[in-house]
Amino acid sequence: MTIAAHLTCVGSHRDEIRHILARYSELGINNILALRGDAGDPDDQMPVDHFAYAADLVGFIKTQFPRMHIGVAGYPEGHADTDNRLVEMDHLKAKVDAGADYIVTQMFFDNRDFYDFCERCELAGIHVPIIAGIMPVTSLSGMKRMAELAKRSRFPSGLLRAVHRAQGKEYIQRVGIHWAAEQVRDLIDNQIAGVHLYTLNNSDASLRICETLGLRDFSRVIGPDVQAIRDRTRSRNLAAIMLATDI
Ligand SMILES: Cc1cc2nc3c(=O)[nH]c(=O)nc-3n(C[C@H](O)[C@H](O)[C@H](O)COP(=O)(O)OP(=O)(O)OC[C@H]3O[C@@H](n4cnc5c(N)ncnc54)[C@H](O)[C@@H]3O)c2cc1C
Repeated sequence: MTIAAHLTCVGSHRDEIRHILARYSELGINNILALRGDAGDPDDQMPVDHFAYAADLVGFIKTQFPRMHIGVAGYPEGHADTDNRLVEMDHLKAKVDAGADYIVTQMFFDNRDFYDFCERCELAGIHVPIIAGIMPVTSLSGMKRMAELAKRSRFPSGLLRAVHRAQGKEYIQRVGIHWAAEQVRDLIDNQIAGVHLYTLNNSDASLRICETLGLRDFSRVIGPDVQAIRDRTRSRNLAAIMLATDI
């Protein structure tokens, strides 16, 4: 299994981050998802040498740990801190220009938003592989929490109708798994580089999505193997299914 550690940098000293990366390196973890993290109160005191944005972290990793493979976050429906969508694309390009190997997207529920995002990236000169973020809805409260965490996310009427029609928690979960599995099936058919399943520590939903799709051999499908993602263009197979979890 290839492991990619999510590393947020907001509020951290450079030495702290260097120490964490050195430890990962010692453990043989060579994949980092480089993130800013959610900025806290604007009045919070930041360390003098703090990283303001993920692009700074990417540049730091690239110079200090050149063998690390780096993923960064992308937002098909936009990130809440930037209203101007064209400027936001410049910020995403800055992360790639700083050395990111691939992009993993925020969750989305309508694949058209993802395909459009991929085209906008191409037009902006961003040519790294883009991994699609899929979050199965497993409960009404969870859906509301997700909407709070990923503020720009659009919940399509078809999904909301199906969730509200479901009679009880178990059936809401089935609706969510079915919706996510259909999204993943369509993404695979459209030969995307990989899928990142937001498990939120509910591995059951992720396993059921994979099973529904007939993907049973996890040793073959798990892991953001950068070479596999790059080689993806040469094969019709999905390069990576990434399962996100908290440790
Ligand atoms: C796949 C994925 C996994 C995630 N995993 C985690 C996790 O494990 N833990 C966690 O805490 N959070 C996680 N997040 C959430 C993420 O930390 C937040 O969305 C955070 O608010 C932004 O992080 P970022 O790396 O995208 O930041 P950035 O790329 O730095 O962007 C943040 C905002 O700043 C803007 N910006 C960038 N550069 C500039 C600039 N030079 N000037 C002005 N504005 C600028 C961007 O447009 C954007 O609006 C994840 C998100 C995704 C998509």
